[in-house]
Amino acid sequence: MINQLQQKYQLSLLLLLATVAILGVFPFAVIRYFEGNVTAAVIDMALVLGMIAFVAYAFYSKKIRMVSAVLAVFINAGVVAIVRANGIDSFLWVYPVFASTFMLLKPVEAFGVNIVAGASIVALSDILATVSLDSYIVTILMLSLSTFVYASHSAKQFRLLETLNTVDALTGAFNRRAMSADIKAAISNSERTGAKPLLVILDLDYFKTVNDKYGHAVGDEVLKSFVAITRTHIRQYDRLYRFGGEEFVLLISQINDQHHTFINNLRQAIKNALKTPDGKEITVSFGVASWLPDSTEDTWLQRADEALYIAKSEGRDRAVFSDECSG
Ligand code: GH3
Ligand code: MG
Ligand code: MG
Repeated sequence: MINQLQQKYQLSLLLLLATVAILGVFPFAVIRYFEGNVTAAVIDMALVLGMIAFVAYAFYSKKIRMVSAVLAVFINAGVVAIVRANGIDSFLWVYPVFASTFMLLKPVEAFGVNIVAGASIVALSDILATVSLDSYIVTILMLSLSTFVYASHSAKQFRLLETLNTVDALTGAFNRRAMSADIKAAISNSERTGAKPLLVILDLDYFKTVNDKYGHAVGDEVLKSFVAITRTHIRQYDRLYRFGGEEFVLLISQINDQHHTFINNLRQAIKNALKTPDGKEITVSFGVASWLPDSTEDTWLQRADEALYIAKSEGRDRAVFSDECSG
């Protein structure tokens, strides 16, 4: 999903940096070596190898955020070291490195790292013998500020895209796409850690009658209230999704011994609060299925759906737990 999209974007930026390291910095390492400037050659080589190693680790481990942060500090330290060793000759590297920092870190973090690196360069090198302090400060600030604005805007767009892609527009519940990704994640988490999540399908009873009697707009408001009410009764890590129409899915991350009570209290709380405009209560039927080893997204949902079917056929306004979790 969008997280994956952002991850791919970040990985491609890392790949770009590794390519720059090889094509842009490596030739300098060779040139410095043959010029007899061994210190600069060693720093350049360390930068090239370090960047390649970090990027390879990011691809391998998928710990992109952590690797990006370490890499940002690494290249900033690198540019400070090379300017200190080489002086004005290597000074122009400050600009691409400072701009790259914004690709690797959150805008505010990048700004902070740039300021520390910029000040360190002044303190540790003799560039002020050639470059005027005013120009140095103004050009660094202009570069950092414009990249900061661009990076902040891009981060905002990613967040908006993520919301649009994962949230149901009418009710504000998560959508089916988000549900599918989260169920898959819950399954792999259970397989790894033995966590016991619970999947619940919630279907409003006789909802067609609500629409028929009060109109579609009222029906929409009821769906919104349903989501608002349910959200106040679930925990922070439990997530509510709109499965379709007036059917919702609740993914409870971890159950305890009291999950029967929790489910029935939730059902009762919704019943007490969800009303038609003239005050008639609207009830909800629940089909509940706990995670079982070897569950797939489909089989898990199917067990919850079968339980819901029984809840409907036994008269609605009740929760039915699939066999596996009744014991
Ligand atoms: P049951 O108790 O068996 O669940 O009966 P029901 O009437 O709730 O179920 P049915 O599947 O027959 O009807 C679901 C209704 O939900 C039909 C459809 O018009 C309505 N619906 C689906 N999506 C929306 C929506 O976004 N807004 C509104 N207002 N109604 C919707
Ligand atoms: Mg219904
Ligand atoms: Mg339905």
